[in-house]
Amino acid sequence: MVIPDGVDQSRPSPARVYDALLGGKDHYEVDRQVAEALVGILPSMRLVAVQNRAFLGRAVRYLAGEAGVRQFLDVGTGLPTRDNVHDVAQRIAPASRIVYVDNDPVVLAHARALLTSTPEGATDYVDADLRDPAAILERAAGTLDLSEPVALLLVAILHFLPDDDDPHAAVAELMGALAPGSYLVLSHGTPEANPRGVDAADEYTRKAPGTEVTPRPAEEVSRFFDGLVPVDPGLGYITAWRPEGPVPPPDKVGLYGGVARKP
Ligand code: SAH
Repeated sequence: MVIPDGVDQSRPSPARVYDALLGGKDHYEVDRQVAEALVGILPSMRLVAVQNRAFLGRAVRYLAGEAGVRQFLDVGTGLPTRDNVHDVAQRIAPASRIVYVDNDPVVLAHARALLTSTPEGATDYVDADLRDPAAILERAAGTLDLSEPVALLLVAILHFLPDDDDPHAAVAELMGALAPGSYLVLSHGTPEANPRGVDAADEYTRKAPGTEVTPRPAEEVSRFFDGLVPVDPGLGYITAWRPEGPVPPPDKVGLYGGVARKP
């Protein structure tokens, strides 16, 4: 596999470990080892990744369909996979415009696979960091009309920002810049559902120096939605958000979050 510039193959990255958990091919041996260590601690870890991805799909289908949203800002995109945000949104609304944002050089190297838009719509990729919301907004404005509603997707990214990075301020700054009628879609690891999830987060931090994983209690995750109106069925474990099949119990998939609208 070609190693893109700026990539340290000896250090795992969240995007590559997630790809390994989802059964993708865009990861290195070191990422596979972390994925397996996580599965050793929390045997349902692959299900966590699969269910997270399924929640993302359901949320985007709801937004592009019922909610009529035509613009998406997906921060912490991850490596291209089946049913990327633009694939799902443009299938329902071909004119949808999507901006992808990630800070991982391997995701940047694979970004071409994310830029296959319909002719009516548009996709763009921005190499930027969630800790710099102003840069994200400025560059997203090249493709999105920020005076119209945008769905901001922060799916399984915020637990990679420790408290020192003030993730709540970053989310507030992004949502603050978006028009009324915009949406927030968010999922986040929590400690309540299964203590093994916290052990897995600690193992991740140990095995991937520089990547600190911070599970946050449901109450703290809910604070990301301050000032927003949750869409039915409200905030909770993401597996229970408009499920389309059997719902695994929270001890198997303890990701908390939901979808909410800016009034
Ligand atoms: N949102 C996708 C992928 C989640 S994996 C999904 O839910 O399916 C988490 C992603 O967040 C990784 O691709 C990682 O590179 C990215 N990420 C982590 N910290 C980030 C930061 N500070 N800025 C931008 N992206 C970040």
